[in-house]
Amino acid sequence: MRTSSFLEFPISTIKGLGPKRAAMIRSELNISSIYDLLLFTPSRYIDKRSLSPISAIKLENTVVQTAGILSNIRLIPQSKGYRLTADLVDNTDQIELVWFKGYQYIEKQLRENQRVRVFGKVNRFHDRFSIVHPELSPISELPTEIFKGDIEPIYPIPEKLQKVGISQRLFRTILQSIVEAKDFALAETLPEYILKAHNYTSKTLALRHIHRPETLEQTQSALDRLKFEELFYMQLGLLIKKQHRKQSIKGRKFEIVGELFLKYYQTALPFELTSAQKRVLREIRNDIGSGLQMNRLLQGDVGSGKTMVALLSCLIAIGNKSQACLVAPTEILAQQHFEDLSSQLVPLGIKVELLTGSTSKKDRKEIHQALLSGALHLLIGTHAIFEEQVVFCDLGLAIIDEQHRFGVAQRSKLWRKAHIPPHILVMTATPIPRTLAMSVYGDLDVSVIDELPPGRTPIITTHRNDGARLRIFSFLKEQIALGRQIYVVYPLIKESEALDYKDLMDGYESISREFPAPQYAISILHGQMSAEAKNYEMRQFERGVTQIMVATTVIEVGVNVPNATVMVIESAERFGLAQLHQLRGRVGRGTNQSYCLLMTKKQLSDDAMVRMTSMVKHSSGFELSEIDLRLRGPGDIMGTQQSGSLQLKFADLIEDGELLFTVRSQVQQILENDPDLKNSIHDCMLKPMHMMLKGKILWSYIS
Ligand code: ADP
Ligand code: MG
Repeated sequence: MRTSSFLEFPISTIKGLGPKRAAMIRSELNISSIYDLLLFTPSRYIDKRSLSPISAIKLENTVVQTAGILSNIRLIPQSKGYRLTADLVDNTDQIELVWFKGYQYIEKQLRENQRVRVFGKVNRFHDRFSIVHPELSPISELPTEIFKGDIEPIYPIPEKLQKVGISQRLFRTILQSIVEAKDFALAETLPEYILKAHNYTSKTLALRHIHRPETLEQTQSALDRLKFEELFYMQLGLLIKKQHRKQSIKGRKFEIVGELFLKYYQTALPFELTSAQKRVLREIRNDIGSGLQMNRLLQGDVGSGKTMVALLSCLIAIGNKSQACLVAPTEILAQQHFEDLSSQLVPLGIKVELLTGSTSKKDRKEIHQALLSGALHLLIGTHAIFEEQVVFCDLGLAIIDEQHRFGVAQRSKLWRKAHIPPHILVMTATPIPRTLAMSVYGDLDVSVIDELPPGRTPIITTHRNDGARLRIFSFLKEQIALGRQIYVVYPLIKESEALDYKDLMDGYESISREFPAPQYAISILHGQMSAEAKNYEMRQFERGVTQIMVATTVIEVGVNVPNATVMVIESAERFGLAQLHQLRGRVGRGTNQSYCLLMTKKQLSDDAMVRMTSMVKHSSGFELSEIDLRLRGPGDIMGTQQSGSLQLKFADLIEDGELLFTVRSQVQQILENDPDLKNSIHDCMLKPMHMMLKGKILWSYIS
């Protein structure tokens, strides 16, 4: 058996590769060692085991393998240069072979009456079939029956490499010689009992089957095993990290819920909590009372009542004589949280302040001092809170609202704001598909509010285009006559900002014409306005002074005006599903029937059509997030900052969801029974695990 160090040899040591080509492969494909090379998986396989008679070639765009005798080889002049053609003849029929490129070189290799095996894609031109740019290999005799060829792996080699001769053939030759070597053997990475339970082959055999399969079934089961292994170590890494955090990262111990909490809960709570809210609160209380640091993700659909959970958690922290902060992604939202929470908390004698980019220097200084002295209990704000000058006396709990908007590095700054790391609660209003939550946030504890407060009437969503505008205007007038309010939202995309502002202003004008003063009053809100002007308009709308709010997506997150019952989304096709759902979540916050109108142009792409019909059909953010994952893929949903952990070689978080659930529970079980992997049946996991954990950054604990 070869030593495992063989696997770590650089690929430049491979015969026939050399340092120059090895360097190119490294830079283009990120393959440095022989082991990396072994994990370079074919994108597909071509089954060359059977041969078609020429008469059977009748389907264009299929890939065929056939054999025959070459004749009539000729160069035919074209408007530019030539094309090379030859007839391929067998005893059933004949077909034309054509080359448009490289014909000078190919022509030299072809001979009349030569026997060849031909492989390529079938083309059809004016009812005649041909094979364009086929692969040819000379054969000594024409096969009579079934031809015994190979299953050929096709590797995803970039064109840049192919141009310098790093070809399919080269990869195939190299990999075949590695995996077919008598002493080719890799250390097993999965415990025996797991291999047995899933009927997986050994690692050695799996890699041999990937690069040199005898049947297509072999490639499939080898891939299954490698997928499992990949997810297995991903989950092992996450769950070990979680286990480590739970064992060793101390947190503030909030032993009591405290007077403040009890007083508020018993006398001031404006509504009965939903059972989901109660459950989540219990989970949080367990965490922060344990003496270990809480690192919890709170997922809940729009309107599920996350703010109340945040408020009650802050009360516990403050009741335990420590400070809390709540970070929101926008000023409007921070402002609104500030107003909501201070109206509830100030009567209890709690000191709450707001810190955003537009806080004056003077106020800022006072806030800094009050924070440091401990006089300030709760700081609400935007990422201004992350700044270095913001120093707490004793930060015990940090809550981050709509966390997907902040990067991991930003959040890690909070971590450093206390001697003992603060408890962290991240809340997201955009539900994340389960598979993503398990991979990106797999080391966090996750709470889910899966229930809306009672008495909500489902929002009626419809999809319309310009033809319906008049009817929509009269519908909006009816709603206003009932005393309700309306949002009209326009897209604002960075790349087309100027045009988008024009759309917004045009829209504002046409709505102003349709809804004239003094009967109607309209607010407008967009990102180019000063924070002060935004606040003013927002307040006008909140108070019901204005009935219509024309806005860009600045109102997307968190805004809460329960009397608003209609959300009109203009150019809805330009929004993603998560955004549409967020926008829709601005209505339906009171007891009145609410509506969401998706306005689009008539001709929609398939993708946009799926988004519209999904919005009409589904009201749950969790269901929409699964559809969104299929439409956009994991990287796009999580954003580049968080997609590092999503770069998988074998598994696919869309297709392999079930497998991921299986793997996770299997790894959980292993760690439950053998937390330190001391049992010898788990020896095989140690080395791969250390390799994987090597170089992971500590602050990602707070991701
Ligand atoms: P989100 O989860 O989107 O942040 P909010 O916390 O803004 O949702 O809550 C949405 C609305 O529901 C608010 O007006 C809030 O006061 C109300 N609410 C929250 N919890 C309850 C409850 N248990 N019963 C009734 N209303 C609730
Ligand atoms: Mg919210």
